[in-house]
Amino acid sequence: MLYAEVILPLPLSVTFTYGVPREMSAAVKPGHRVLVQFGAKKFYTAIVESLTNEAPKGYEVKDIVMALDEQPILRRPQMQLWQWVAEYYLCSVGDVFKAAVPAGLKVESETFIERNPDYEEPLDSRLSEREVVIMQTLDHADKKMTVAAIEKATGFTNVSATAAKMLEKGAIIISEKLVERYTSRKVTYVAVTAERGDSDALHAAFDKVKGASKQERAFITLLELSGYMRRDAPVREVTREELLDRSGVSTAILRAMVEKGLIKIYSKEVNRFMPQELPTGELPVLSEAQSRALDEVHRSWIEHDVTLLHGVTSSGKTELYIHLINFVLRNGRQALYLVPEIALTTQLTRRLQRVFGDKVVIYHSKFSDNDRVDIYRRILGSREPMVVIGARSSVFLPFADLGLVIVDEEHESSYKQQDPAPRYNGRDTAMVLARMHGAKTLLGSATPAVDTYFKALNGKYGLVSLTRRYSGVELPSIEIVDTTTARKQGGMKGVLAPRTVSLVKEAISDGGQAILFLNRRGYAPVAVCKQCAWTPKCEHCDVSLTYHKRVDRLVCHYCGAVYPLPTVCPACKEPAIEVFGYGTERMEDEVDGAFPDAKTLRMDLDTTRNKDGYENIIGDFSSGKADILVGTQMVTKGLDFGRVKAVGIVNADALINQPDFRASERAFNMMSQVAGRAGRRDSRGVVAIQTRQPSHPLMAYVMAHDYSGFYNEEIEERRKFNYPPFTRLIYIYLKHRDPRALDELAVAYGRRLRQLFGNRVFGPEEPLVGRVQTLYIRKLMLKIEVNASMSKVKDIMRATYEEMHSSGMQAVKGSIVYYDVDPC
Ligand code: ADP
Ligand code: ZN
Ligand code: ZN
Repeated sequence: MLYAEVILPLPLSVTFTYGVPREMSAAVKPGHRVLVQFGAKKFYTAIVESLTNEAPKGYEVKDIVMALDEQPILRRPQMQLWQWVAEYYLCSVGDVFKAAVPAGLKVESETFIERNPDYEEPLDSRLSEREVVIMQTLDHADKKMTVAAIEKATGFTNVSATAAKMLEKGAIIISEKLVERYTSRKVTYVAVTAERGDSDALHAAFDKVKGASKQERAFITLLELSGYMRRDAPVREVTREELLDRSGVSTAILRAMVEKGLIKIYSKEVNRFMPQELPTGELPVLSEAQSRALDEVHRSWIEHDVTLLHGVTSSGKTELYIHLINFVLRNGRQALYLVPEIALTTQLTRRLQRVFGDKVVIYHSKFSDNDRVDIYRRILGSREPMVVIGARSSVFLPFADLGLVIVDEEHESSYKQQDPAPRYNGRDTAMVLARMHGAKTLLGSATPAVDTYFKALNGKYGLVSLTRRYSGVELPSIEIVDTTTARKQGGMKGVLAPRTVSLVKEAISDGGQAILFLNRRGYAPVAVCKQCAWTPKCEHCDVSLTYHKRVDRLVCHYCGAVYPLPTVCPACKEPAIEVFGYGTERMEDEVDGAFPDAKTLRMDLDTTRNKDGYENIIGDFSSGKADILVGTQMVTKGLDFGRVKAVGIVNADALINQPDFRASERAFNMMSQVAGRAGRRDSRGVVAIQTRQPSHPLMAYVMAHDYSGFYNEEIEERRKFNYPPFTRLIYIYLKHRDPRALDELAVAYGRRLRQLFGNRVFGPEEPLVGRVQTLYIRKLMLKIEVNASMSKVKDIMRATYEEMHSSGMQAVKGSIVYYDVDPC
């Protein structure tokens, strides 16, 4: 008998063994998906890791329920990468599987079940009473049902287990087509039924629409759109949407025309990768500085696998990337171009498609499941040259032959996945991926991560610099606006200081645009009773709630819970609840008031939830439909708007005053980056930084665009306090519903870790937000030597946790532990 070791999409640190029924053996190979039952209740899509002839001992092995693939859905380097991620980031391969494969390729318990039409119940009925009820329910429903739907209809629990038995008896089918959540994209087209050239038929058609003006209009529009009357070109396919849009008629009219036999409506699967415009294939002409940098990058790659391109904002790093990509594609290989924020793909896609046409592939989480499956399969199915632009999860795509990895804005902390596991850094994982393919990596940034710059200065990475903007325009002039003084002078009504307002006014009246950055979404971050100081808190988390005006609700930014804003204080019964502070939503209101003639757009999580959110906002702002863009850190990253003259950083204090060792780095980067959006093309921009700490040392570096000054000071701090890049950090989080049990556990855990790791252990401490989603949290920190073996560390950590489990300590029960390696 053959057995398969499979990876389940679960946080389990081991693989599981299943039997391979003989008839499936051709379709069960490493990298193939199989459907398996796990536990009594659930079915999962698992990935076959390996095959063996050796029967596992000590337990009864279940058989694979169904083989799902004829070809593997993984390439060999991917499996290796998964293992690296699991090992390095201290999580399970199952966690990686979950993140790496689009949901459309996974089935969970939404398995669809239907009656097997070939099943005839034998006389000595082998079905149990419960099974018979399920069969009847299926017959009745007349269609495939999910387990949940069956449970609802029958009132039974645990239907999965019963279904597994019924499957064995051949009574039901678990259908693959529905099991995969994937469906292909279809587009509906409309065409004239009369053959082109058959003028009799066409005349007859015209007669039939005479007198029905809407039908006539639709018919003529269709002829025009399709180019039917032209002799020199083939008839173009016209989508129904396009026709409705252009003719202004309703679908009912089209249906009437179908009945008359004038037109036909048909649908077709379409390729999702059609570019909007035809590529020119022309590369941007590089400036002298850019050409030099390009040569240097190539030279640097002779010695280094990874090179850092340190180029000031708007120096044209993207243009350089385009040349490098071109080089790789011409060599018949593939390129991965990582960006930290989905918003950035919007602008880039157009810039790259103009050069590379349909070789450009975009991948990120705002795509539907189906789209992601399509893209995944396209890459899996070919070795053709292509460039994938994507957010961090694109490192898991099934590349056949990567020649180049670009990580743009490499300093961005959004490359790090925070929750859930795998808590991986897309940048660092991409470098490992590149190594597996023998590809070179280029990291790009105007404000490199301190860790990255350290490695570049110490020869671990190559280093190439671009010190001037492409346009030759100087970097923006930066003003510090002291909000304490502004408030004292009484000129500040809301969150904008008079100086900021006048800079924005000037920019707009000059025909330019402005960006205002506030790192907080919603309307107001605090609500409070003026009478008794009561403030509403989330029931599940230890955080105060943010008021969102448009939905008129209080929202927890940690768990998403929503509450009404009480009109009367629940504590003192006075109608004295007020909201304080500013989020982007409120700033937008203020901006509307301060600039009544200007049009404002807002870009934050709340305005970009749907797929086209970014595209619409970025498109409208680019094309000048708005004058002012208000937003959270989304507006700070890599966007290229030609007409932005003024930038306001509205609350720099919120950036500076963060309690972790990366706070300065993050604040410096964010301020420099958002400032870098100003004055990118024609004339020098201005930046106002509003702060209560005008003499904070960071301000001087930001004002002088002095990255090295900032770096030199910061690296000394890191050295002194033994922080990265001089050590590697691992945060250990413990969670529990009961705070006392948690404390007991955390203290014991810390003590045990100290016995093993000595003074490399810090804590436990309560993090800034001490409870999220009803679980209390404690944090321990481990500072490990950079060259320590992670697999050893992992083994020790796992052993320690297991040891605590078997120690009989009550508090371990119901606790959760997870690790954050290289926290950002
Ligand atoms: P960065 O990524 O370094 O911030 P970009 O690549 O976005 O800078 O370039 C800034 C602006 O300058 C863009 O509008 C870009 O089109 C323009 N630009 C840069 N280099 C060139 C070039 N060689 N030819 C034409 N335009 C360029
Ligand atoms: Zn009160
Ligand atoms: Zn909450």
